[in-house]
Amino acid sequence: MRIGLVGLGKIARDQHLPAIASTDGAELFAVASRNAGTADLPCFPDLTTMLRDGPAIDAVSLCQPPQARYDAAREALLAGKHVFMEKPPGVTVSEVQALTTLATERGVTLFASWHSRYAAGVAAARAWLAERALQRISISWKEDVRHWHPGQTWIWQPGGFGVFDPGINALSILTEIVAEPLRAIAATLETPSNCQAPSAARLTMATASGKPVEAEFDFLQTGPQTWDIVVETDRGSLTLGHGGNNLIIDGVERPNGAEEEYPAMYRHFVRLIAERRSDVDLAPLQLVADAFLCGRNLAVAEFHE
Ligand code: NAP
Repeated sequence: MRIGLVGLGKIARDQHLPAIASTDGAELFAVASRNAGTADLPCFPDLTTMLRDGPAIDAVSLCQPPQARYDAAREALLAGKHVFMEKPPGVTVSEVQALTTLATERGVTLFASWHSRYAAGVAAARAWLAERALQRISISWKEDVRHWHPGQTWIWQPGGFGVFDPGINALSILTEIVAEPLRAIAATLETPSNCQAPSAARLTMATASGKPVEAEFDFLQTGPQTWDIVVETDRGSLTLGHGGNNLIIDGVERPNGAEEEYPAMYRHFVRLIAERRSDVDLAPLQLVADAFLCGRNLAVAEFHE
């Protein structure tokens, strides 16, 4: 699979380039970047130019912020390319549904990736929970935006998700490990008065059968950072810590597998293409959209980086 990558920013350099390099059956052939480039690959100023003038490719990896995702994904799908989308897969639910329909019509693979679902403890947590009766879940996802997202002004703009940019990772794990559908019931969204996206949010959710799920997201957390999900069941409790990478069951830490979310996602992408399938799960994005639909809005102090 010959890949062209779009958006050579933080996640592309940190994760996609090494992951593609380590994936059997995948190779990076070209890059489209408005500002950057790599010395050893053909680089183009945008996707259109890469598709028109670049080497033949089979697939496109979209690593830009979500506001740029739809137009790029549509262009790539129309060109008959398989598409790997960074999370979140779009700004709105409807635009991702439109892309899914287009991928089906074109007979190509669309992969809406959720990297946190590939964290080392998630599969074991799902299997453990499948054999128990869920009682409640609480999520605490608190990180310092200044440390983890320096200079990323898009995150505070419409469609940038604010604290839901990391928070949706928690929701992607939640919707992976809980077998039932989840629904949003209420939310409080705290938005800095000079921004368009929240810096903190509290969500009250429930499983379809009524088990409570609470989530607290904070983007201005200094000191200890937390990416934890605590699950209580009829037969014990489980904590997924460190973004799904540490698994503690009834107080006992389980051995972790290697942290290899992105290599696992590229292996999955290669498999999807071979099997002529797409993988687009909208559940995490739908919960965020629903939080905006049912949420109370509070204006809070301006945010300045
Ligand atoms: P970033 O470094 O700020 O941006 C990625 C690249 O996208 C930029 O370098 C730029 O590439 C292009 N870009 C930026 N703004 C654009 C715009 N308005 N229109 C078109 N292209 C634009 O962001 P990032 O941290 O890599 O995040 C990108 C995506 O990956 C987000 O959806 C994020 O949620 C997801 N993600 C990020 C992380 C992380 O740790 N940062 C982890 C997992 C997933 P060029 O200059 O090359 O055009």
